[in-house]
Amino acid sequence: MSKTKNLGVPCCEQVHNSFGVGFHQCQRFAVLVRDKRVYCKQHDPVAVEARQQASHEKYAADEARRKADRIRTIACIRACVGIPTEELDPGLVKRLLSFFEDSKND
Ligand SMILES: [Zn+2]
Repeated sequence: MSKTKNLGVPCCEQVHNSFGVGFHQCQRFAVLVRDKRVYCKQHDPVAVEARQQASHEKYAADEARRKADRIRTIACIRACVGIPTEELDPGLVKRLLSFFEDSKND
């Protein structure tokens, strides 16, 4: 990581106080200027936007995984209909193997 130059003035961003109510000016020193305003590395609008974009992408990927898991769970539950609980594991494996064998022959 490259070393950034401290501009000798505080960051312009307003942040929550330690109680989560009210705001105060960021206590970090500014290291860059954007649109005539000075920011620390954390509050650099470009960095903030990049972090938000990454967060949204991670949320979308997680949501896609959760949706796929729901679909798989429902498919498994449907596959188990009619199988007594005490025979569930062997029955499910037997039915899944049968399903895959049948799909190979299609
Ligand atoms: Zn700041």
